[in-house]
Amino acid sequence: MPRYQGRCHCGSIKFSFVAPAIKNGLRCNCSICIKKGAMIGDFIVAPEEMKIEVAENALATYQFATHVGKHHFCKTCGIYPFHQTLRKPGHYRVNLGCVEGVDTLSLPHKLIDGAAL
Ligand SMILES: [Zn+2]
Repeated sequence: MPRYQGRCHCGSIKFSFVAPAIKNGLRCNCSICIKKGAMIGDFIVAPEEMKIEVAENALATYQFATHVGKHHFCKTCGIYPFHQTLRKPGHYRVNLGCVEGVDTLSLPHKLIDGAAL
């Protein structure tokens, strides 16, 4: 499986992960995804496959409701690069818009009904 590189807008948060070739994305209608408008990967990254480099404490975390999911964003540029998923605590889903070489505007995607979960 390839290792992908990603970063927030300002580069304070850099990350890389191993995943199957990215050919699809997901959009979710839960209360936070609908506001972010981001396309997320259709795969979940195990913590040992995720490498995260953060400059000067730039990583902030937002939690709500059950406080199980961890929604990370960059304190400098505000971009959401990845989150730790509610359904598999400690594992990550990534914002495909932050991943090098992925064109989210031309990527087919599915909808997931996160609002119903
Ligand atoms: Zn940033």
